Amino acid sequence: MKTSSKSWAAGLVVFLLLSASLGFGQSVPKPEDVLGFKVGADYHLATYTQAIQYFKKLAENSNRIKLFDAGKTSMGLTWTYAVISSAENIANLDKYKDIARRLSLARGVSADEAVKLAQEGKAIVWVDGGLHASECAPAQHNIQLAYDLLTATDPKTTRILDDVILILIFANPDGMNLLADWYHPNVGTPYEVSPMPYLYHKYAGHDNNRDSYIANLVETQIMSRLADQEWYPLVLYNHHQTAPFPARIWTPPNSEPTNPNVHPLVVRWQNLIGSAMGEAFDEEGKEGAISRIIFDTWYPGYATQVVDSHNVISILTETALYRYATPHFYTINEFPREYQDLTMSAFYPNPWKGGWWRLKDAVDYCLTASRAVLDVSSKYHAELLYNKYRMASEVTKRFRTEPPYAWIVPDKQLDPGNMALLLNRMTLLGVDVCKSDVSFDCDGITYPAGTYVIPMTQPFALFVKNVFEEQKYPDLRKYPDLWQGLVQSQKFEGAPFESYDMMGWTLPYQFGVKVYSANSPVEAKLTLQKEIKPSPGEISGNGGVYLLDHATNASAIATNRVLKAGGTVQWIKKEFTAQNRTFPEGAIAVHGQSISRAFVEKLVKDLGLKAIAVGEVPRVPTSTLKTPRLGIYQSYVPVEEEGWMRFVLEQHEFTFSSLHDADIRAGSLNDHYDVIILPDHYSSDLIINGYPKGTMPPKYVGGISPTGLRNLKSFSENGGTLILVNSTCNLAIDNLGLPVRNVLKQIKRDEFNCSGSLLRTEFDTHHPIAYGMPKEAASVFSESCAFDIMPSFEGKAEPKSVAKYPAENLLMSGWIYGEKYIHQKSAILDLPTSKGKIILLGFPVTFRAQPWGTFKLLFNSVFYGAAKD
Ligand SMILES: [Zn+2]
Repeated sequence: MKTSSKSWAAGLVVFLLLSASLGFGQSVPKPEDVLGFKVGADYHLATYTQAIQYFKKLAENSNRIKLFDAGKTSMGLTWTYAVISSAENIANLDKYKDIARRLSLARGVSADEAVKLAQEGKAIVWVDGGLHASECAPAQHNIQLAYDLLTATDPKTTRILDDVILILIFANPDGMNLLADWYHPNVGTPYEVSPMPYLYHKYAGHDNNRDSYIANLVETQIMSRLADQEWYPLVLYNHHQTAPFPARIWTPPNSEPTNPNVHPLVVRWQNLIGSAMGEAFDEEGKEGAISRIIFDTWYPGYATQVVDSHNVISILTETALYRYATPHFYTINEFPREYQDLTMSAFYPNPWKGGWWRLKDAVDYCLTASRAVLDVSSKYHAELLYNKYRMASEVTKRFRTEPPYAWIVPDKQLDPGNMALLLNRMTLLGVDVCKSDVSFDCDGITYPAGTYVIPMTQPFALFVKNVFEEQKYPDLRKYPDLWQGLVQSQKFEGAPFESYDMMGWTLPYQFGVKVYSANSPVEAKLTLQKEIKPSPGEISGNGGVYLLDHATNASAIATNRVLKAGGTVQWIKKEFTAQNRTFPEGAIAVHGQSISRAFVEKLVKDLGLKAIAVGEVPRVPTSTLKTPRLGIYQSYVPVEEEGWMRFVLEQHEFTFSSLHDADIRAGSLNDHYDVIILPDHYSSDLIINGYPKGTMPPKYVGGISPTGLRNLKSFSENGGTLILVNSTCNLAIDNLGLPVRNVLKQIKRDEFNCSGSLLRTEFDTHHPIAYGMPKEAASVFSESCAFDIMPSFEGKAEPKSVAKYPAENLLMSGWIYGEKYIHQKSAILDLPTSKGKIILLGFPVTFRAQPWGTFKLLFNSVFYGAAKD
């Protein structure tokens, strides 16, 4: 038989097309072929390691997926993410990335060109799962979503794959492994649903979703780079659990208040996508989708809200969660009373009626929601792409004619390192930071050449405004019809609605960096900066003693390095003048006879410090420092603040060990420690009593106990320094017999309310704890304390107030109600005991590792605690 070469060729084309649509051959493995169980199976959680093994198999067998390495996680895992689309799009990723970038930045692109690019481009959509590792369904859903998209042949999925490029990410690889490793050995034991006794991220735990506008964590840095500098997604969908009970999933429209620094189109599309999700749930017979309660968009530290002000449509959902992969049966009797009669409402039109809830159900809800996002993004991809361009153009144009025209950042700062850090984080988040080549005048101020300028004529200007300006949290009582036309479970009589998170966060205040907003255009030649470097470090003068300024955080690193190298470091306790420079109290003296000049030269160069070499230490009182033997209490009821404190101390090269309940119960603390810190905690009761017996494996049961409290007391009386931070100060006041009262303890929430704001605070800079601080700075106030010193009754040395709230005008950013209650009250106390001391840091000085301007209060407390006069 004669074979036509033409029909053979046609057959080959058909074969190639088929294999293109199905992947390479038909051997895309099912998840269970690699994992050993179906996605969402009861009692089974895939680890990140397993999930990536599976993704690698997918990439070997399909041309619809490509894997990329993003970098290393905090615990050192290689972080792999997937890009999924049609085979043709996968082969042209660079082209579509370029279109996305051009439309997102709108620089040098005319409206006509934008229309063309929008037609030609693809919708880049970001979906991540597992940021909060204990909310385990979303990460599992990623696995099923990948398989479904690679194997589907239906017209809808084919359309989605043609129009959409999906970035699919496991948002917390370390946490995904930690969680599965904790859960699986407990399955079938009495501890199957017990909480994990440590954070599901090396430092941040749940707060990994509070870091996004500052990017302290390596994971946030990686995600920011991917979103703001590489892929420029149109939509970013960040999955969470858990929905407000008994709803099965919470979707946009979001709750109030809405962050004002967001383009209105972002909000409109959030509403549209959220409604499309709701429609999809009801079409598929999935009950219980609710919207518009509890979760608001005020705080931009979330992975979602940070991108809103980058003109990205963020979507957050909260799918219902029981615990881990354990199923649970609910009856209507367990519902809150107002949900028991299954009333239909505009934002909850199809109430859930109870029954079983399994991991598989949660995974299925996540899949429906993700598919709705992909479907809308596919249907409207050209409109969405053009909208991105429109938003970028409008934002850029807006600040040509209205203030702030720019933010001006002088390079002379109390702590130039903090300034460089703040500006470098801005560039990481996609912001253009420039330096002025010439001196210029703006609003009557002359700025020298070398001044940093962030022009607001840029596409992500709303993000800059969001994090640089003072927040004015709206009084939600003022227009009740506008704000309160819906059920809000957090309302309390007479007081304003609180935000779901922080109410004020102004980063320059938190960093202690002086910035000016320009009320008139900046007219100067500006040069874009890739990296901001403070002026280089150096030693001036000759002599055997090197003097360092106490105002920089880097001076704490320098101190730690010199001490570890066996050098001598002293704090000079009086103001003095050397080489025409006046050093306030607390100047740091490094003794040259203990360490070589070459060592100090390298130190100041690496850390950007200015040292002055003099012949001898000034003849004034000094304290001699030593490397503190430092212990940090780590509760088995894990708290993010403990993790952030470790993060901050590690960044500044302190060494320490973690102290657990049994260590504190065992006593003899002075044998091992000079300084012990009790970081902020949810409750004193949990510190003292911990988990009750039978609720956790025995190792994790019980707190420090009354014995531990006595041991902490005798530790301080025998010469140790005990540092308590924020709400744990109450533990010491209530249990250690301190002559102190927290005035807020008795005040009702409708009389005083200040939840997550920045307050003006005055510092006694003559006291070692406040060495290097300005006289006045912003402190974070969040479940914080305000102290009155009671008359001392045991003839103890007088407590010293190191910081206090001023007599008026406390609020710098956010919200406060009833500030009179804390006027002139102390914020930090140094309380001498018979041989040691107790330091009460009444506000969270290292809160989420964000207030870089107040870290030194902790560093000073630690050094001071181990120093000798
Ligand atoms: Zn969450």
